[in-house]
Order: sequence, then structure tokens, then C-alpha cells
Amino acid sequence: MTNQYEVVIGLEVHVELKTQTKLFCGCANAFGQDPNSQTCPVCLGMPGVLPVLNGEAVALATRAALALHCTVNSHSKFDRKQYFYPDLPKAYQISQYDQPLAENGHVTIQTSIGKRDIGIERIHMEEDAGKLNHLGQRLGDAEGSLVDLNRAGVPLIEIVSRPEMHSPEEARQYLVELRTILSYLEISDLRMEEGSMRCDANVSLRPLDYTGSLADLPRVEIKNVNSFRNVQRGIEFEIGRQRQLLQTGQRIVKETRGFDDASGSTYSQRSKEEANDYRYFPEPDLPPLVLSETWLQDQREALPQLPDELRQYLAQRGVAERDAEVLVQDLNLYHYWAQVVELVPDVRLVTNWLLSDYSRLVNAKGLSFAAPKVNAGGLASLLSLIISGTLSGKMAKEVLETMFETGETAEAVVKRLGLIQITDHNAIKEIVSAVVTANPAVVQDFLSGKEKALAFLVGQVMKQTKGQAKPDLVNALLREVLATYA
Ligand SMILES: [Zn+2]
Repeated sequence: MTNQYEVVIGLEVHVELKTQTKLFCGCANAFGQDPNSQTCPVCLGMPGVLPVLNGEAVALATRAALALHCTVNSHSKFDRKQYFYPDLPKAYQISQYDQPLAENGHVTIQTSIGKRDIGIERIHMEEDAGKLNHLGQRLGDAEGSLVDLNRAGVPLIEIVSRPEMHSPEEARQYLVELRTILSYLEISDLRMEEGSMRCDANVSLRPLDYTGSLADLPRVEIKNVNSFRNVQRGIEFEIGRQRQLLQTGQRIVKETRGFDDASGSTYSQRSKEEANDYRYFPEPDLPPLVLSETWLQDQREALPQLPDELRQYLAQRGVAERDAEVLVQDLNLYHYWAQVVELVPDVRLVTNWLLSDYSRLVNAKGLSFAAPKVNAGGLASLLSLIISGTLSGKMAKEVLETMFETGETAEAVVKRLGLIQITDHNAIKEIVSAVVTANPAVVQDFLSGKEKALAFLVGQVMKQTKGQAKPDLVNALLREVLATYA
């Protein structure tokens, strides 16, 4: 028996679809309403009612599958998954079992050894359950539980990865990229804290001399962790726990474990169900789901630009990979960038300003690029003042801060504060000569090869001009004057 193990991680991600109505009835699909106000006989599981499939949900699920490079099955079907729990009024959930909507996709992640595709085994559609609100800290000591069925019947897709991730970081990267792709599709709010995106992680350790199938490895499922960071923490803890058990000759029990945020540890919840515990059978009240090639083509054409296409485009525009990634992760920021670049075609200048000074102000003031305080035209005018030489970079930073404070235009701030960069050759040369004369020791240092001495002289000139002299002009003129001393 070896002491070496490979970590094997698979993720199951549930995503609530942002449809107008629920999956099988006309109730509104809305978060944060009064308990049980968004319900009807269908989603309450009354006898004799019939489900009707929501076409919008099928379209959104299909777009997700296409964006994740899946094969969408022209024939799929719905099945009943039976289990008993108070948040499930019918005592079964309508899901898809052996013929899911889509299969065989992938998400590309960046690992330490380059890009890697993480396989997606399947994507299926299902309805969400309701929500229990326990009256107490925990279920164990609660006085009771209140059932809210507003969420019952809300459309979900479950995205099941192949067990192809080998570290907690890879799992996190997969989740980040998955969420980025889905965010471009605008099919879900993707809020983990509100439950519109939920993640379960399957973790096992494969001894390096193990030759059996991955499916036979004892697997632990960590359920419903509420943030990407906690998914990573939960997996880290679980790897340590399992490794210790194996190294002391103990067995890993196949089970479902919860994650405790405060201690960063996982705890046993229940032994894991097998598929046959759910007694799946075809949903008799719904016909098979048949998708025509024309309809699928419409969905393909409805796909927006996806993150990888945007990465390619930004690379073509000469944006550095690291900067491009920041833009790709925040579409509002990217759209803002695109508007400014349209007005000021200096891509490098725009990107630098947007990702450094501008972003710093946005973050410091708790603002967002969804509703920018200084609009794209405003930033473009400021950058034009740098390009024309009216403002130095340093002055422009001050102007931008003032624009954020007062809402004035760049031109108005410049005029009010008298911030015009001195570009007049003769005016600067006069000051340069005076500084050189006043600092003979520093000049000597420079002439004996100390390049740093020049920076001091530049600083003196900038001080005398209150920072308004054009720095590269000061530099050039200083070298010119010093050359006459050599
Ligand atoms: Zn309903």
C-alpha cells in the first residue's frame, strides 16, 4: 500500500435560471418575496394537477450547454427522483436521469502547467425544492421549522463535471471560469449567498498504485458550500482528513459532509445515497423533450460573445494577458473600456488608467462600473489632455480625483485650478539653468556618472514649477544643459 495519493475532485454546480416563471407552472420566479406568495396548486404538489414545461427555461439551459461546448441531445426526457423531505411537497423532484439535456462539454482553466480542459459529463434540467427556515440556531435544537415554497419549482440546471480536478485551486478556477461564462449568457443571477448558484464537491484520494475505476473509490461529497473560497477551504480540509485516515490504516466512509465556516472543517451529515435509493422512473405527466435542429440553431445564434472570444479580441488589440483577464472578469468594466478606446485609440494608455487609477477610485468609493461616476466620455477627455501635453500624468491623477468628488468635467477642473502643464521650452530652460547653477555638487555627481543625481535635479525643477512642467521636457533640457558642463 502506497503513502502517495492523487487528489480527485468532481464538482456538481446547481444554477437557478432567471426565467419569468417557474419550470412547470405560471408562478413568478422571484427572489425575496413574502413566504409562500409565489405558489399555486402545481408547485404545491396538489393532487390532479399537471406540469407544463417552460420553454424559456429550456432555451436558457440549452444556451448554457452550448456555451460549455456540450452536445445538446435532440431527445431527452424528465424523470421523477423520489425522496421525502418537508421542502419537497410532491415527495419527488422532476429531474432528468438517464437522458439528460446535454453531455460531454468542457471548461478550460489555466493551471500552473498551462491550459487544461476540465470535462463536463452532463447538464440536466430539474426543479428546485422549497426552503426550510429553522427556528433556532441549528436543526437539532430548533423549536420548529417554517416551510417557504416560493422556490419550489424554480428551474435549475445541474452541471456535473468529470472528476478531473486535482487540487483545491483547480476546483476554484473551474468555478470562477464557469461563473464567468454563465454571466455572459445572463441566464442566472449566479449569487451563491442567495442560493442562485450552489456547489457540491466530491473529493476522493486515489492511491498511486490503485488500478480500479474512479467510481469505486470511496467518495465524500461536501454539500452546499456558500462561497468559492469555502469550496476551496472545504476541499483542503477534506484532503487532509482523508489523508490522515488512510495513513493510519483507516477506511474512508462514503458519505455526505457539511462545511462549517467558523472552524473551516467538514462534518458528517449522512451516508451518501446511491442512485437506486431515489427510485428514478420516467415522469408520466411530461412528454419527452424533442429539440429540432432549427430551434437549436436559433439558440446557437442567440449566444453572445463568450469569454474566450473576448480574450482573443483583447490580445489582438494588444492588451496584456493579465490586464485582459481583469476586463474579461467584469463585463461592465470591459464595456466601459471599449467606449473609452473608441474615443481615445491609445489602448495602452486607456487600459493603464482604467485598471490602475480609475479602478482604485471606484473601489475606494464602493462604486461599480455598472453605474460609473465619471462616464466614458469624461475619462476620454481627461486622457486627451494627457496626450495633448496639457496635463502631466501626475496632474491628471489629481484632476480625476476631483472629477470623482465634484462631478465636474476634466476641462472645468483644469480651468478652475489653473492646472496647465508648462510646455514652453524657454520658460522651462530658464528654471533648469537656475537649478543647475544652484546645485554644483549634484551636477558634479552626475558628471562623474551618478545617474541618480539627475532625478534630484528633475525634482527641483518640478518643485519650482509646482509640478506643472512637462517631465520629459524637463529631462531633455536638463541633459542638454548638463552636456555643456562636461
Ligand atoms: Zn406554481
